[in-house]
Amino acid sequence: MTLLDIENLAVTFPVQGGPDVPAVDGVDLQVESGEIHGLVGESGSGKSVTARSIMRLLDGAEVSADRFDYRGEDLYAKSEAEMRQVRGDDIAMVFQDALSALNPVMTVGEQIAEVVRHHGDVDESAGLLSELRRKYVTGTRTSAASWRRAVELLETVGIADPEDVAMTYPHQLSGGQRQRVMIASALGGDPDLIVADEPTTALDVTVEAGILDELQHLCDEFGVAMLLITHDLGVVAETCDSVTVMYSGSVMEHGRTDQLFENPAHPYTKGLLRSIPEQAPSDGELATIPGSAPEPSERPDGCPFRDRCPAAFDACSDPLPEHVVDDGHVTRCHLYTEGDDPEVSWDGPTR
Ligand code: SF4
Ligand code: MG
Repeated sequence: MTLLDIENLAVTFPVQGGPDVPAVDGVDLQVESGEIHGLVGESGSGKSVTARSIMRLLDGAEVSADRFDYRGEDLYAKSEAEMRQVRGDDIAMVFQDALSALNPVMTVGEQIAEVVRHHGDVDESAGLLSELRRKYVTGTRTSAASWRRAVELLETVGIADPEDVAMTYPHQLSGGQRQRVMIASALGGDPDLIVADEPTTALDVTVEAGILDELQHLCDEFGVAMLLITHDLGVVAETCDSVTVMYSGSVMEHGRTDQLFENPAHPYTKGLLRSIPEQAPSDGELATIPGSAPEPSERPDGCPFRDRCPAAFDACSDPLPEHVVDDGHVTRCHLYTEGDDPEVSWDGPTR
């Protein structure tokens, strides 16, 4: 079942005295229930804006879409009060920077318990907190039941000594522990979808691997779907069932992870793949894509990748096409027509 169904999303930020900034233009995105869907692109590609549009957390932006459905209901037709319920209860967000997302003056146990109290499914009447616990909550409404659930969730996300950690403040924890706390908090409302914006980018590689494993395991165990925003195709390869590749505000290619990795059908995806160790051609150096993405106000007509693409040709100034490569696998490159798999050389002289 399709949980999230977005068609033709456009997000523009009005700028006083200047031209508006089109952050996202014509984006389609579908997330199936229970899957981990990667949204990958360089910084400035519009992936975080797309993520925040799902939570309706884009103050001052103009958002339009032909469809913006969550479980078949238009998220943009909801009132702000209904949307507050959706946030946490149905869709939860995990941010890159846990330290600024968490409340510094509340214990992590109380913060998770708050989410449980507002959005979760516990019997709040089941007794008061013990004297000991009450020292670690600032409010008086945290019940023994939601505190217990918070401790359980900390254990679920792989925190050793969850009882003790529940009574600490965010600054007392390591970066990896804080990220786990954020995930526990997201799970507190039993959501069906977690939107995770670069949840492991600030962590070192071993800690990152542990948390990605944990996320995969949790999605399996709880049947939660996740939209995982990352700039790292290696993370997608490890973690995601399917993937949407964005560049400069537009979708370039999407499909199942195996389809994209085995048969990438867009020069940008091919370029990105060259820059991850396991995927780079055996004789090739690990390489990045020369040049940088255009400013939103300076995007060329047609394909926004034109100025960096080694295969660009005349048709590339036409509006982006949609070519079906395979069932569920779509590329938006003019080079590809049905049944065609053109060579793209990243090694020859590029203009
Ligand atoms: Fe874009 Fe054209 Fe290159 Fe395809 S060949 S990625 S349409 S510039
Ligand atoms: Mg819920």
